[in-house]
Amino acid sequence: MKRLVVVGGGNAGTLIANLLADKLEVTVIEPNEYHTYQPGLVDYITGEVDENKIKMPTSSLLKPSVKWVRSKATKIMPENRTIISESGEKFEGDYIVIATGGQNIPVHSLRGYHTIEDAKMIKNEVMNPRGKSFVIGSLPGIIKCPAAPWELSFLIKRKYPDANVSVIVPAKQPPPLQVPMSNMFNKKANELGIKVYKGFVIQEVNYNERYAVSTEGEKIAFDHLIIDTPISTGFSELADKSGLIPVDKSTLAYKDGVFVIGDANSTPTPKTGAAAHFQAEVVANNILAEIEGNRSKESYDGTAICAVYSGPNEGMLVWLNYEKSKALGPTSIYRYMKKAFTRLYWASLSGGVDFILKPLVESIRKS
Ligand SMILES: Cc1cc2nc3c(=O)[nH]c(=O)nc-3n(C[C@H](O)[C@H](O)[C@H](O)COP(=O)(O)OP(=O)(O)OC[C@H]3O[C@@H](n4cnc5c(N)ncnc54)[C@H](O)[C@@H]3O)c2cc1C
Repeated sequence: MKRLVVVGGGNAGTLIANLLADKLEVTVIEPNEYHTYQPGLVDYITGEVDENKIKMPTSSLLKPSVKWVRSKATKIMPENRTIISESGEKFEGDYIVIATGGQNIPVHSLRGYHTIEDAKMIKNEVMNPRGKSFVIGSLPGIIKCPAAPWELSFLIKRKYPDANVSVIVPAKQPPPLQVPMSNMFNKKANELGIKVYKGFVIQEVNYNERYAVSTEGEKIAFDHLIIDTPISTGFSELADKSGLIPVDKSTLAYKDGVFVIGDANSTPTPKTGAAAHFQAEVVANNILAEIEGNRSKESYDGTAICAVYSGPNEGMLVWLNYEKSKALGPTSIYRYMKKAFTRLYWASLSGGVDFILKPLVESIRKS
C-alpha cells in the first residue's frame, strides 16, 4: 500500500485523510486533541453557541484506519517526502500533504480570534462590555475568511442594537472577487448605522486611552477592539513572499508527490474552509487517479461557497472561483444555512455533505 503523510489535521487535513483512508496507509500528524470549527467562533464570541458545539475530539473525526500521531511537525523535507516531528520521529511518504493552515502574526499586541483560547478572551469582553463602542476589523495582509469581521459586527449589533459599532477595512477597495460580497456588507452596515472606515491601516493602538491611529493619522476611540491579523505558514523556509506556500494553483502540487491544501497555500483565493474542502477533494481524486488509474485527474478552479451572516437576522451565500464571484441574498434562509453548518461541518470532514454541496455549487455556477 502507498503511504500518505498528512501534516495538520484541521479542515483540509482531516478531509483528505478520511477520503483516502482505506486506499492508502494514512498517517496524520496533528498536535491538538480537539478540532475547532473555526467559522463557529463568531457565534461563540457573541454567545450564540457554546464551546462544546464548535469543538470535537480529533480522534473521533478520523476514520479508524487513519493513524493519528499527536505531535507537531518541526521539519518538512519535500525533496525526499520526509517529515520530522517534535519528538524527533521521522515519517516518510509516497505522498505528502501539507495542511497546516495559517498562523496569526501578532501585531500591536493584537492576535486575532482563530482559536477557542483567543476567542474566549474576546467573548469575555463582548458578554461583559465595559462600554458600547466596538471597533472590528483586520490588519493588511492575507487574513482568514474576510467575511468574519463583518459577521462579528452584525452579531454584536444583533446582541446590542444600541451599540456604536465600526468596521475598519485596511484596503480602500476590495479585491475584484470580493466586490459582490463587500457591496452587500457595506449596504447593510449603512442601514444599521455601522460606520465603515475604508483604507484604515492601524499604525498604533493606545490601550490605556483606548484609541487606534491609522497610518494616515485618523484616530478611532474604542471600548472594545476586535482585530484579526494576517496569517503565515509556520514553515517559512517553504513560503513565498506572501508568507504562504506556493503551489500550482490547479493541481495544488508543491512538487512531485507533495501537495499543499487549505489556508497554508498561496493560491489566489480567500482563505476559507470551503476552499480547503474542495482542494482536499481534488488532491484526493488525483492521488487515486495515479494509484488506481481508473479515473481522470481534476483541476482545482478556485471554487468555494460559504453561507455567512450579512445582517443581524439574515445571511448571504457567497460563491466564487478564480475568475468570478457572486453573492446571493440577503435572506433568512442563508442565515439558517450558516447556522445549520455548525452541525453539518462534522459530517463534511468525511465528505458526508457533498451530495448537497456539489449540486449547489454547480447550480450557482451555471445561474
Ligand atoms: C472566525 C473565523 C470565521 C471563519 N468563517 C468561515 C466561513 O464562514 N466559511 C468558511 O468557509 N471558512 C471560514 N473560516 C476559515 C476556515 O476556518 C479556514 O479557512 C479553514 O479552517 C482552513 O482549513 P485548513 O485545514 O487549511 O486549516 P486549519 O483548519 O486551521 O487546520 C490546520 C491544522 O494544522 C495543524 N498544524 C499547524 N501547524 C502544525 C504543525 N507544525 N504540525 C502539525 N500540525 C500542525 C493545526 O493544529 C490545525 O489543526 C473562518 C475562520 C475564522 C477564524
